[in-house]
Amino acid sequence: MTKTNSYITRLYCPKCGKTRAHAAVANLCGCGSPLLAQYDLARASREMDTRTFAGRAADLWRYKELLPVVEEADVVSLGEGFTPLLRLAGAGRSLGIDRLYLKDEGLVPSASFKARGAAVAVSKALELGVKTLILPTNGNAGAAAALYGARAGIRVKIVMPESAPFITRLECSVAGADLYLVKGLISDCGKIVARAIKNHERDSSPWYDFSTLKEPYRIEGKKTMGYEIAEQSGWESPDVILYPTGGGVGLIGVYKAFREMRELGFVDRIPRLVAVQAENCAPIVRAFQENKSESSFWENSSTVAFGINVPKALGDFLALEALYASKGCACAVTDQEIISAQRELAQKEGCFICPEGSALYAAAGKLRRDGRIRRDESVVLLNTGAGIKYPDTQEIAPVYLELDAEL
Ligand SMILES: *Cc1c(COP(=O)(O)O)cnc(C)c1O
Repeated sequence: MTKTNSYITRLYCPKCGKTRAHAAVANLCGCGSPLLAQYDLARASREMDTRTFAGRAADLWRYKELLPVVEEADVVSLGEGFTPLLRLAGAGRSLGIDRLYLKDEGLVPSASFKARGAAVAVSKALELGVKTLILPTNGNAGAAAALYGARAGIRVKIVMPESAPFITRLECSVAGADLYLVKGLISDCGKIVARAIKNHERDSSPWYDFSTLKEPYRIEGKKTMGYEIAEQSGWESPDVILYPTGGGVGLIGVYKAFREMRELGFVDRIPRLVAVQAENCAPIVRAFQENKSESSFWENSSTVAFGINVPKALGDFLALEALYASKGCACAVTDQEIISAQRELAQKEGCFICPEGSALYAAAGKLRRDGRIRRDESVVLLNTGAGIKYPDTQEIAPVYLELDAEL
């Protein structure tokens, strides 16, 4: 069988340092921390360089040596990745940022960056012989898991708040996943999933816990956004990357990518990472302002940006470490600012992006005004999904015409 030539060596715990084999199903470390994938970067840096990727297909598997899947035959792909890094000249001018860019994840299968996590994690699950996986989700992660699960022939079970966007529910259902709705938050869904895992731990093929960060490989898929930003910038790191932070997986992944790339000699510095949250759900922002290493549960959270309505993230300490270590920061914006930013970007740039991504544009304006971003810095807004997935965010006022109307 053809190998991917992955340099993966093992899983390790970023909290207590314990290691685990990557060739067996694994969830959290015994100490309760998420596990991360480790690669033999010293050997990789001797055997490959940035030219290795040139000429490969424009999807995230171009970085396969730095991904966890070992056999080519286990790769489950819908062509995800290598999304455009668009220059926002007009929007940049109005914010006073000369080099403003949008990495547009609205263009991947399922129209959110969750496809990256699902592609890599479902592929690895297939390699490990998983038959059934289950996860709680605010919508997009479930949709992506359902679609990639269908392609892989893995049964997918999804527990979702009833209030999550209808379109994601539709994607799960059409893809044949078992969909369960809950009158509650994603944290409530998580408790139901945890009980289900326990109930089925003695089954002949136990259900695999695919919850955010309880599963070590979604982060590997998401880290490829960092590799792409570097490659698309000619292997130069931008100064700042803003990221809409819910569970923090993308932020942790992008930070991991830049650390790996620095060790590999692909880039020479790590960009300042900025976590952006909604004012009514800002546990990471609050913890950052209080200089804490962990966040506390955010009561009664609500925002139009569903993907970042996460009151307490399992990987909060890793997300905060990424902010502190990269000399970045955290910033909250209101729902009203998000909705205005969404319109402004569509009207100035033709980019109809999701509310989570729109929050970044509002945040970049704030950080520019208070001096935390300078005019001459290169700034990337990491838009996580497409605006059309959330048809209820904006109100529109169409003009109706009579059949004999003249314009
Ligand atoms: C899941 C999601 C997020 C938050 O991602 P994390 O990596 O969990 O922080 C942001 N935007 C969208 C559209 C999402 O679906």
